[in-house]
Amino acid sequence: MKVLRGVDEAVEEFSKLKIQPPNKLTSTNYPDGLVFECGCESGGHRVNDPTNTVIGIQFPVYFVMRCVNDYLTFFRVKGIFTQKAYTIWTCDKKTGQEALKKIGI
Ligand SMILES: [Zn+2]
Repeated sequence: MKVLRGVDEAVEEFSKLKIQPPNKLTSTNYPDGLVFECGCESGGHRVNDPTNTVIGIQFPVYFVMRCVNDYLTFFRVKGIFTQKAYTIWTCDKKTGQEALKKIGI
């Protein structure tokens, strides 16, 4: 898991994504055991935790989620019968918000 430390780095990572806003088919209806690693003090969250906000999705199963501690995390869900979540990067509130503002999401 990569922790983005600066706004420039976050802008670069966000720019690489082809994220789209969540739509009506976007589902976080996964088993409770599916947890993604997060940079915040909790260390991780259930993918189906309703306190997370889905910021964006990317094909096939990638999410950018904001957690209850305002960290932004980009992760992938893989697997058909048993899913695992792989965090690609995470960043704190300030870094994430400034990066989102800069790229206009
Ligand atoms: Zn978190």
